[in-house]
Amino acid sequence: MERVFNFSAGPAVLPLQVLEEAQRDLLALPGTGISILEISHRSKTFQAIIDATEANIRKVMNVPDNYKVLFLQGGAYLQFGMVPMNLLKGRSADYICTGTWSTKAFKEGASQGTLRCAWDGKAEGYVRTPENSELDLDPNAAYVYYTSNETIQGVQFKDEPNTGNIPLICDASSEFMYKPLDISKYGCIYACAQKNCGPAGVTIVIMREDLVEESADGLLGVLSYKKMAENGSMLNTPPCFSIYVVKLVTDWILNTIGGADKLYELNQKKAQLLYDVIDNSNGFYLGHAKPECRSLMNVPFKMATDELNDKFLADAKAVGLESLKGHRSVGGFRASIYNAMPLEGVEKLAAFMKDFAQKNG
Ligand SMILES: *Cc1c(COP(=O)(O)O)cnc(C)c1O
Repeated sequence: MERVFNFSAGPAVLPLQVLEEAQRDLLALPGTGISILEISHRSKTFQAIIDATEANIRKVMNVPDNYKVLFLQGGAYLQFGMVPMNLLKGRSADYICTGTWSTKAFKEGASQGTLRCAWDGKAEGYVRTPENSELDLDPNAAYVYYTSNETIQGVQFKDEPNTGNIPLICDASSEFMYKPLDISKYGCIYACAQKNCGPAGVTIVIMREDLVEESADGLLGVLSYKKMAENGSMLNTPPCFSIYVVKLVTDWILNTIGGADKLYELNQKKAQLLYDVIDNSNGFYLGHAKPECRSLMNVPFKMATDELNDKFLADAKAVGLESLKGHRSVGGFRASIYNAMPLEGVEKLAAFMKDFAQKNG
């Protein structure tokens, strides 16, 4: 079976080594005779797996001791509701709207209480992140919410917005672990796994302990950060297989790549290759975001007209470059070049794009 280079926005590429390991252990985890798909979440073996996954995440992201790491279900989308449900407690919160996902979080979250928009990039077409001075922040906000990487628009914050003492809540789904961060700047940073660190089914929530402890009472247990933290993310059956694959991915980051610093170097190099092709194409390819806000993870681009779109996708597919169609709201193409996308895949895409521009420009 020939594998292609998969530029899908999510679920997305996983390291080949991880897939091979998962395949090898699928019939029986070492020393158990039981598959990860069959094992009880109350077994010592699974407890060791979830503990090791948490330890790996803490190591990769340098998570301080006063933060909880939770493994939840319901995707990133459930967090659009859980964040206000747990943290508003009758107050309002501020949302920075830089693209599709933050706007969705803002709209969906409003079902749980009062939310304010602190900045909206819609009128400009979601091409950039705001300066701190542009944010209209309420000093009494329960929290400030933002999406560090807009998966669809390819707009990425280079630094966290400065919110003073107001807890900062971040949806990092499509950039999770792509570079070292100072976690102490965040009240909470969360990510669904299927973009940058595993398969669909698990959402990783890293939250400061005081926010977990002060979160709202009286919620259904699986919707309560406090209850899930008290029960080690296993109030009910967790997504065992997804957690196990996140363990393999974080093993790969730590042992094969060499940690978040190394991953960041690689991610910068990969993105630069594509942006260079776009910038040096004499306008044949056009990027979406302003250059200073371009994402290292999702690279949306288009051609001056849509005439050659189908040919571009067909020619790319013919050489093993897949899932490059852009999101319908932005059009054109999108190359998602997450942590697990090998440099060779991006080199091949860059060479293909150059060649296509030469032949068709
Ligand atoms: C994909 C994505 C989501 C939605 O994730 P689900 O797990 O499908 O709910 C939310 N936010 C961002 C930034 C995403 O990229």
